[in-house]
Amino acid sequence: MPDRIVVENAAIATVDAHDTEIDSGHVVVEGRRIVAVGPGPATVTGDASTRWVDGTGHVLTPGLVNTHHHFYQWLTRGLAPDAILFDWLVALYPTWSRIDEDSVHAAARGSIAALLLSGCTTTADHHYVFPRDGGDVFAATVRAASELGVRLHAARGSMDLGESAGGLPPDYAVESIDGILAATAQAIEDHHDPAPEAMTRVAVAPCSPFSVTSDLLRESAALARSHRVRLHTHGSETAEEEQYCLEHFGMRPTDYLDGLGWLGADVWMAHCVHMNDADIERFAATGTGVAHCPSSNARLGVGIAPLPEMLTAGVPVGLGVDGAASNESGRLAPEVRAALLFARARRGPSALTSRQALRLATMGGASVLGRAEEIGSIEPGKLADFAVWRVDGVEHSSIGDPVAALALGAPPALSMLVCNGRVVVEDDVLLTSDVEAIARAAREQSRRLLDAS
Ligand code: ZN
Repeated sequence: MPDRIVVENAAIATVDAHDTEIDSGHVVVEGRRIVAVGPGPATVTGDASTRWVDGTGHVLTPGLVNTHHHFYQWLTRGLAPDAILFDWLVALYPTWSRIDEDSVHAAARGSIAALLLSGCTTTADHHYVFPRDGGDVFAATVRAASELGVRLHAARGSMDLGESAGGLPPDYAVESIDGILAATAQAIEDHHDPAPEAMTRVAVAPCSPFSVTSDLLRESAALARSHRVRLHTHGSETAEEEQYCLEHFGMRPTDYLDGLGWLGADVWMAHCVHMNDADIERFAATGTGVAHCPSSNARLGVGIAPLPEMLTAGVPVGLGVDGAASNESGRLAPEVRAALLFARARRGPSALTSRQALRLATMGGASVLGRAEEIGSIEPGKLADFAVWRVDGVEHSSIGDPVAALALGAPPALSMLVCNGRVVVEDDVLLTSDVEAIARAAREQSRRLLDAS
């Protein structure tokens, strides 16, 4: 690995506070950090071993940040393809309850490969299925991220509200509240790194209002805050969830979660499709973040989140692919375009600009994960997480604006992806592992899982 990487002659979309863009400029990386950004050629001194990259015909952006995923679902794609969320979950719980360390490791490697190959350098993973005899599936996920070289926010999920107690998941798929809290504390102890350059952070993440108890939500919030880690869950995803909360708690999901200490600047929530004005105001006032998952929401037909309204109110919003069982693509770059198109389909052509869409996928995600000081923009001092996209090929060369090429065009070829100062993708090839081996393992583990269930 060279001590220094210098990219020159690239268009640069920094996504800094002023949305600074450079027509042709340089980025200099030393070790794990960006040390210089500017127009024209770079000036470097000293005798560090240097890799020079000619960025002609390319646009350099921050590495994309994925704020919501369920890696394990990589093995169960394409199932219950026409079901609503609750029926889709009920159809998949029996299969998911048979996962183990080997299957989760293979699934995580598949999910992460798809993310890296689509320009993503930081990803969250929300894992909430822990079969009793499945081994340490959480550690398997962390190991896969470390092998492939992606920055991971591993959310230790949980379900404790089985069917017999009025929840949606079958009883055999849930854990006890004491077991969950002990295992979550252990996951933080084993894997959470609070350092600014951390490659692994842990969050506390009960699954959803219809699969966990109020006690677990309350205790989880207390646990996360005592360990200074973040909180994550699903919220306001479907009309059926809203109906469930009204029936069981006499209030809508946001009010329910609010009452349990679940709004705050240390919380991010996936989906937030069925939000009214009061919900949005409450999210903005508390700094609660949102993982916007446009393709998953469309795949399950749940609706389109009120993204422009949330942004206008000042809610921190990032993008998420969501689990691959409800977004078989698993690629993050297409979510930029999906976010833009869906916002405009709802609210007209001024609902979201190309720049805003790119910001969602970069600084927006960094804010939602509590890392706005470390990643999400191309600025000296930030960690060296960036993507170099080819925009002079046949699909993009006639689009004059490189950010529009990214946000409106097809996802461009990825000439280089750098995470934490390390080149992990080059010319659309994953350098950290053999993708054919990843595909083979995923196919084998998927067959094993589906055969068993
Ligand atoms: Zn999800």
